[in-house]
Amino acid sequence: MKHFFLAQSILFTLLAACSSDKNYVKPLASQMATENVVLVVIDGPRLSETWGDSLRVNIPHQNKLSSQGVLFNNFMNDGVTFTLSGHSAITTGYYDLVINNGSELPDQVSIFQRYLEAHRLPPTEAWIITSKKKLAALSDCKDLDWRGSYRPSINTVDREDEITMQVAIDTISTYKPSLTMIHFRGPDSRGHSNDWNGYIKAIQETDFYVKQIWDYIQGDAHYRDKTTLLVTADHGRHSSGIGSSFVGHGDSCDGCRQISLLAIGPDLEKGVVVQKPYGQIDIAPTIASMLNIDWAGEGNTIEELIK
Ligand SMILES: [Zn+2]
Ligand SMILES: [Zn+2]
Repeated sequence: MKHFFLAQSILFTLLAACSSDKNYVKPLASQMATENVVLVVIDGPRLSETWGDSLRVNIPHQNKLSSQGVLFNNFMNDGVTFTLSGHSAITTGYYDLVINNGSELPDQVSIFQRYLEAHRLPPTEAWIITSKKKLAALSDCKDLDWRGSYRPSINTVDREDEITMQVAIDTISTYKPSLTMIHFRGPDSRGHSNDWNGYIKAIQETDFYVKQIWDYIQGDAHYRDKTTLLVTADHGRHSSGIGSSFVGHGDSCDGCRQISLLAIGPDLEKGVVVQKPYGQIDIAPTIASMLNIDWAGEGNTIEELIK
């Protein structure tokens, strides 16, 4: 009996140690209509030119789409506000400092690898399609239990978003993946060029691409009413009066940290605006729940997106 109690107390200690820094997410997808997730990451738009503008003049399509879904108004990058680190927070559920030139893999395993492993799927079931070549680093991780295994398919090229958009639709319609990330670089590239008009135009173009992607989803028999679309950003840009303002980003000013999340899908309420704070690391556990994968990480499931 004594040994039993000893064993039990060791077990409790171990469980407490394991659960202290990780939130275990119980898969709930069996209750959900969502079978596919499309994640769009727009690189570097500032909230003041997007959802922070009450008229949403630069994002009319997403503004209209928000009446069909859930908008998170208090959504943050609480980690490093550069491209690789921002993306890695979104795809791994951890804030991590990842060298921004693509030469370093994220520390933690991504939702892509976990998804392919969990359901023993071929690489073409998960895709990373981007306008920046360096984002290929998101397809693998440093964790030796996972490195080189269950890597998603990638199409990552330095190119204009218009091309990425075509490649994304071609890829989705050819392979019908259940998990797809699409990245557009326009606002970030034009911002760094100190081209205000180009920056605004890129926000408007990517806004239109979001509409086209949702129209494709709802027009395709494979995806219609079974697919959740998530639209977010890797980081914002410096607030007006901070550093180089819209030209740069990378610190912890409000402009760099404040981003947004728009979600549309068959399980979601329509026209809801959520003020509760969430952040990038909450996206991967939420997708895990939608796609029926066990998950343990730093982030929390976004309860407004899970039935
Ligand atoms: Zn940048
Ligand atoms: Zn800043």
